[in-house]
Amino acid sequence: MPANADPVSAYIALGSNLGDRRAHLEAALIALADLPSTRLLATSLIYETAPLGPAGQQDYLNAVAHLATTLAPLALLDALLVIEQSRGRLRRERWGARTLDLDLLLHGAATLQDTRLTLPHPAMLDRAFVLVPLHDLAPDLILADRTIEQHLARLDRSGVRPATN
Ligand code: AMP
Repeated sequence: MPANADPVSAYIALGSNLGDRRAHLEAALIALADLPSTRLLATSLIYETAPLGPAGQQDYLNAVAHLATTLAPLALLDALLVIEQSRGRLRRERWGARTLDLDLLLHGAATLQDTRLTLPHPAMLDRAFVLVPLHDLAPDLILADRTIEQHLARLDRSGVRPATN
């Protein structure tokens, strides 16, 4: 990491429901740890969750990773897209099955509404498959005046269970 920049905490949501789901998540974690100017600090448990979107899809495996990085938000987003593509991600159908989905949840305290990037991630507080693994890492993190623990308490988390294989 460059000595003249303070790293920020970034949280990445990982998801896969196509192919060897666990291999996709593990490859993504290795690639995140390998990013320039970045350290992988921690990863959540891996959870298995029922999919949103078109019927007939396999369940997802989901996790969240905590990074320390001096990459700027858009540079980190670009790096996530490259990692997705390296696992053969095809963007065919909105909400459709995907080998690997990487979302930038938080980049320090940044708030951003760019055509390519919204921060914090706009749907994160409504998704149990994001908040359950984020809660593993940062239950006391405050967003919109509430802790992750308090946001999670409002959601139905019954479709999110620790993955067994
Ligand atoms: P998706 O198909 O759900 O993976 O959407 C990916 C697209 O959403 C990317 O090409 C980004 O430009 C855009 N996007 C906007 N905000 C975010 C964010 N916080 N994290 C990841 N992608 C984002």
